[in-house]
Amino acid sequence: MKIAIDGPAGAGKSTLARRLAQKLGYIYIDTGAMYRAVTWKALQKNIDFTDEKAICKLVEETKIHFEYNSQTQKVICDKQEITKQIRSPEVSAVVSQIAAFPSVREKMVQQQQELSKDSDVVMDGRDIGEVVLPDADFKFYITADIDERARRRIDELKNEGYDISFNTIKNDLKDRDLKDTQRPVGALKILDNSLVIDTTDLTIEEVLAKMLAIIQGE
Ligand code: C5P
Repeated sequence: MKIAIDGPAGAGKSTLARRLAQKLGYIYIDTGAMYRAVTWKALQKNIDFTDEKAICKLVEETKIHFEYNSQTQKVICDKQEITKQIRSPEVSAVVSQIAAFPSVREKMVQQQQELSKDSDVVMDGRDIGEVVLPDADFKFYITADIDERARRRIDELKNEGYDISFNTIKNDLKDRDLKDTQRPVGALKILDNSLVIDTTDLTIEEVLAKMLAIIQGE
């Protein structure tokens, strides 16, 4: 069973995907964390993030994996835990630029397909339903009003110790949405067979219940 979840930044995809995977006993793969991990490493190593070749080489050299317990997901990059670092504003500001490179996406898609090959998975990102898991059993498109998304992201970042203004967050989300929907390869879009859920006025529990009802055919 493969469940694809796409949608704009801050719509709650990761929380939903993690919770859904937990309920169903599937593996959760956070593809955004993979793009973020490579971006973090590029910043650490001072690699020019406009240099597609250098970033692509970095993707090849980097080992990213996830460790889970019931509540949290740890992101491990080359044996170092970078769960918190990849959510930093510095990474958020650059990640969509790196994710726009076709050769970088090609490598990432290969890794994501490999990770999901032999398992039941819930995977979230931007191009999952169209590119990574085109044969997914369910393709969700999770969205929410931009102001609501910015509020949620602020709460998330506060929990991680960042204090950032509403407008800064809103602009970051808008900027990433624009880059993620306009790029030539792997762009975010609603597919013909996407199940669209607008979560603006819904709680996580309500959205989860809706998704489970669809998956379990209720
Ligand atoms: O999901 P999250 O907001 O953490 O993703 C960070 C960025 O990674 C996105 O804004 C997008 O540029 C990129 N991304 C992508 N394709 C995916 C997942 C994430 O391009 N499948």
